[in-house]
Amino acid sequence: MEEIFERGLSPVNHPLTLQVIPDPVYHLAMERDTRQRRAIRRVIEEAGRPLSPQEVLKVAQGHAPSLGIATVYRTLKGLVAEGWLIQVELPGEPPRYETATKSHHHHFQCRTCGQVYEIEGCPEDVQPLTPSGFLLEGHYMVLYGQCATCVKVS
Ligand SMILES: [Zn+2]
Ligand SMILES: [Zn+2]
Repeated sequence: MEEIFERGLSPVNHPLTLQVIPDPVYHLAMERDTRQRRAIRRVIEEAGRPLSPQEVLKVAQGHAPSLGIATVYRTLKGLVAEGWLIQVELPGEPPRYETATKSHHHHFQCRTCGQVYEIEGCPEDVQPLTPSGFLLEGHYMVLYGQCATCVKVS
């Protein structure tokens, strides 16, 4: 450091010093990212059912108004890579997301409003359905119909 001052350079121009001076623009962007990420995580945790990116966006904008769909996609992808979220795939549907901590369960999709719900329980004994000589490794089940809200309306 002494040598630098001798050469007449200000500490700000020295690369080692620059590392510890926070760049206000970068810092603000990081803060915004953290806030948006927190909002997205909160929305998924509070929903208690798998959400599509569009559903996440709609609710999360209440906490982070500047949020856009690109950020939602990017954040969801990151949370899946970190193992915090898992994708719920339904035939012919965009993926939905739920927290990875849940134990084995299945889903119910309302054909009227399109929302996907988590259901408790599992028929479990599907082994008898497995063709002879086949090795069963898992199963996947979706119930369809109308959710309680849509039943009341109709
Ligand atoms: Zn419904
Ligand atoms: Zn099951």
